Amino acid sequence: MSVDRRTALRLIAAGGAAATTTGAVRGDEAPAPPPDAVGLLYDTTKCIGCKTCVVACHEANELPPETREWGDGLYDAPTKLGSRTKNIIKLYRDDQGRESYMKEQCMHCVDPSCAGACMIGALQKREFGIVTWVKDRCIACRYCQVACPFNIPKFEWDARDPRIVKCELCRHLLARGEKPACVRVCPREAVIFGKRDELLAEAKRRIDSEPGRYVPKVYGETDGGGTQVLYVSHIAFEKLGLPDLGDQAPSVRARAVQHGLYQGFVAPAALYVVLGAVVLRNRKRIGNTDEEDDA
Ligand code: SF4
Ligand code: SF4
Ligand code: SF4
Repeated sequence: MSVDRRTALRLIAAGGAAATTTGAVRGDEAPAPPPDAVGLLYDTTKCIGCKTCVVACHEANELPPETREWGDGLYDAPTKLGSRTKNIIKLYRDDQGRESYMKEQCMHCVDPSCAGACMIGALQKREFGIVTWVKDRCIACRYCQVACPFNIPKFEWDARDPRIVKCELCRHLLARGEKPACVRVCPREAVIFGKRDELLAEAKRRIDSEPGRYVPKVYGETDGGGTQVLYVSHIAFEKLGLPDLGDQAPSVRARAVQHGLYQGFVAPAALYVVLGAVVLRNRKRIGNTDEEDDA
């Protein structure tokens, strides 16, 4: 992380003050998706579990192979999201033999809890509504990991300059006019890319045209305040690991508590400054210890 102590404290103070005074998003307000929001639509009935998307995601994002899970450094076959894996395919099978594949990556929440928890604005909802990590701001406090209701952000524990790793919708490819890698390679169009409102319409069209085939709901339309990654499925969503969050974003509740507790005060900003200073001091101490150990 390249942010220095002085800059970090300034950003923390600015972020905390903004949260308490400008009211960019009021505590009880749920933001709408941005007008240019893009996303993914994943259809469990189309996925064949080939994992081509997992490999393509690795390559497109220049992630090293995940050989650590198997202990011998030979086999690149991640079983869960990690600091080297932004996209994973899982298999669900119940006692009756019903099966479904499930694609996991960042949901690009309409009102992302990870960004709300980040005291310093290192996670931001940017162009096209893509939730983006900003390296130069991050102080590695990992509040975003705790806040995410989908357990998505991962931390590079084994790196000297660790990053928060998660899907950023292949924004580097979008900038070149290309589709996300997982979409480009999928042989079944089980995952498609597009504007969120068009993906939502397509999802509803599929459900309406084959009523017995799908659970009659688009996951992500309103769940957790809405997400830009949407799902249609023949298996109940909770079986696939998609939590029942209700229609309100967890960040709305967090903001409501914060506004109720601190309305008119600068306490959150001050708290952020103190917490940030502690985090930075601890990181510096750990860094010094590491350097001594390496010497
Ligand atoms: S899924 Fe988690 S990491 Fe992704 S935008 Fe939502 S809160 Fe943030
Ligand atoms: S959009 Fe890109 S980073 Fe996200 S899961 Fe697909 S390939 Fe991976
Ligand atoms: S490439 Fe398509 S069909 Fe293959 S696992 Fe990924 S989403 Fe499923």
